[in-house]
Amino acid sequence: MKIRDMLGKGNTTVSFEIFPPKTTYPMETIFETLEKLRGLSPDFISVTYGAGGSSQGHTVEIASRVKKDFGIESIAHLTCVTSTKDTIRQMLQDIKDSGIENILALRGDIPDSFMQDKNWKPEYKYAYELIDEIRDFGGFSIGAACYPEGHVETRNKVDDLKYLKQKVDHGVDFLVTQLFFDNELFYQFREKMDLVGIEKPVIAGILPVLNINQVKRIQEISGCNMPPKFLRILDRYEHDPKSLQEAGIAYAVDQIVDLLSFGIEGVHIYTMNKPEPTRRIMESISTVRYSGAKKEASR
Ligand code: FAD
Repeated sequence: MKIRDMLGKGNTTVSFEIFPPKTTYPMETIFETLEKLRGLSPDFISVTYGAGGSSQGHTVEIASRVKKDFGIESIAHLTCVTSTKDTIRQMLQDIKDSGIENILALRGDIPDSFMQDKNWKPEYKYAYELIDEIRDFGGFSIGAACYPEGHVETRNKVDDLKYLKQKVDHGVDFLVTQLFFDNELFYQFREKMDLVGIEKPVIAGILPVLNINQVKRIQEISGCNMPPKFLRILDRYEHDPKSLQEAGIAYAVDQIVDLLSFGIEGVHIYTMNKPEPTRRIMESISTVRYSGAKKEASR
C-alpha cells in the first residue's frame, strides 16, 4: 500500500524506523528485532540507507522482507548525493522489483572525503533532484525529510523553508521530521509551513532517549533544541542509566500524547532497533491513539 493513501484519513499513523545492522553484525539480528516489533502493529516501518555506518546494500532486502515476511508496509530510505544517475536508476528498479511501493528521498550527508575532493561534481546536488528522478520513474509514493528547527547546514531558516517548498512541489506526498524534543517549536514550524503553502501531511519523528552518549551524538548531528524540562532529566539521571531510560520513555510518551491531541497526521518512532522501549511507548499510547479519531468519526 502507498503511504500517501494511509495519511490524512482523520487518524494518526504510528510507524517505526529501523536501520540495517552494521557490517560487523549478523543480518539475522534485524529479523529478530522485527519479530518483536511485528506484534506492536505499526502502520509501516522505514529502513534507513547507509545512515550511522549501517550497510547500504541491505536496505532493500530488509524493507522487502518487512513487507513480505512480516506483513507490514515498508518504506526504503534512499540518498543520492554520492550516487551516479545510473546507480540511482538501478536502485529504483531493484526497489520496484522487490515489491516496495514507498521511498523516503534524501540528499544524504556529504562525506568529508567528497567535500575535500575539488574535482567532485555531484550528479544530484539536492533531494529535489532525486525526487524528480523517482517521480519520472513512476510507481512510488514519495516521502522527504523536513527540519522543524532548520537543517544543520542552513544559515537562513527562511531559505530552508523556501527550499522545503521547492522540494515538496517537485512531487513529495508526505514529510517526515528530524527528531525534536520541543513540541512548541514543531507547532511553530507547522504554522510557517501553512504560511508558505506547504500542505502535505507531516509525520513527526520521535526518539526515546535511552542513554547519555546518544544525546551527545544527537546534539552534534541535528543541533536540536533541548527544552529545560528535558535538560533537567539529563542532569538528574545522567549517571543512572536505568532511570534515564525510564525518564526517556516517559518523555517520548508525553511528546506523543501532546502531538496526538494536536491532531498530527503521523508519529514515527526512531526505534534504534530496540523493541522494548518501543513496546512500552506503544502500550502507553494505545488508548489515546484512537480516541480522537473515534470522536471525529462520531461527528
Ligand atoms: P535537502 O532537502 O536537499 O537539503 C539539504 C540542504 O540543502 C538544506 O540545508 C537545504 O536548505 C539546502 N537546499 C535544498 N535545496 C536547495 C537549493 N535548491 N538551493 C540551495 N540550497 C538548497 N541520511 C542517510 O544517510 N540515510 C538515511 O536513511 C537518512 N534518513 C533520514 C530520515 C529523516 C526523517 C531525516 C530527517 C533525515 C535522514 N537522513 C538520512 C539525513 C539526511 O540525509 C541529511 O539530513 C542530509 O544532510 C539532508 O538531506 P535532505 O534530503 O533533507 O536534503
